[in-house]
Amino acid sequence: MDYQSLIEEVHHEVEVMGLRGQLANYIPELSLVDPNQFGICLVDCKGNIYGTGDYQKSFSIQSISKVFTLTMAFSVMKDIFRKRVNVEPSGNPFNSLVQLEQEDGIPRNPFINAGALVITDAIISQYPDPEKAIHNFIRSIACEVQIPVNPLVHQSELAHSSRNRALANFMKSFGNIDNSIDRIIEVYTYHCSLEMSCEQLAKAFLIYANDGHSVFCEDHILDGSSIKRINALMLTCGFYDEAGDFAYKVGLPGKSGVGGGVGAVLPGRFSIAVWSPELNTKGNSVKGIKALEILTDKLGVSLF
Ligand code: GLN
Repeated sequence: MDYQSLIEEVHHEVEVMGLRGQLANYIPELSLVDPNQFGICLVDCKGNIYGTGDYQKSFSIQSISKVFTLTMAFSVMKDIFRKRVNVEPSGNPFNSLVQLEQEDGIPRNPFINAGALVITDAIISQYPDPEKAIHNFIRSIACEVQIPVNPLVHQSELAHSSRNRALANFMKSFGNIDNSIDRIIEVYTYHCSLEMSCEQLAKAFLIYANDGHSVFCEDHILDGSSIKRINALMLTCGFYDEAGDFAYKVGLPGKSGVGGGVGAVLPGRFSIAVWSPELNTKGNSVKGIKALEILTDKLGVSLF
């Protein structure tokens, strides 16, 4: 398969459509990025890397980090699921509070902010230096050392974290938060502020396409049944209230972030990362989603 020509074709087709969206200005630092950047990187299960456009430029991974914290939680604390975080799509925006009240402070899934805050809380209880543990875990699955945190984005998000603090406080009132709200917000915004390129992200996502194995380093990160569950969550919850639409158009498990990145996998074949900062009203990358739709249509493959 000539993946290189395919992604170049897709990149070009999307570029000439002139699609526009909005930068994530609720985190002021994210509204300062050049909106015209657009990269695609595909990594096949043999470890061949195909990239085009801005695929080696780093960007804020934001909620894509929730896949990595979920993966950490999966390896060490499976009992958290259902008891403290559910595994159902929310059909609501990523930072919504409404379901929490009706559902006793148990978030619908680990990819909405409420669910990711519970996972971060559990990681803080488990590791003496949670920032370092999360950072090292992501480096180890990407087999990449250079994954910096952007301190400006971190500070910007901390300074505008009222909504996430509200979610955490509300869950604490139901007894579903153990650590201090300040500490949880600090660690959560830290992992959201990590920066990766499409190439690094596609390398990290390869474990979800390859039964828990990376071909770039020796470690076997997770067993196949855990990978099955994480992929199911990505498919049903990875794009919040646009998860159904993404499954309909693209048909791959994936995860987006308000930095404009999207990571997705076709199990047994490849992982792919697309980045373009302008977002639609659901907080997902406009060009990222279009690129994946065209790519899976051209390939004639998806989960289905
Ligand atoms: N850090 C962002 C927030 O909490 C992540 C949201 C996202 O990428 N969807 O609002």
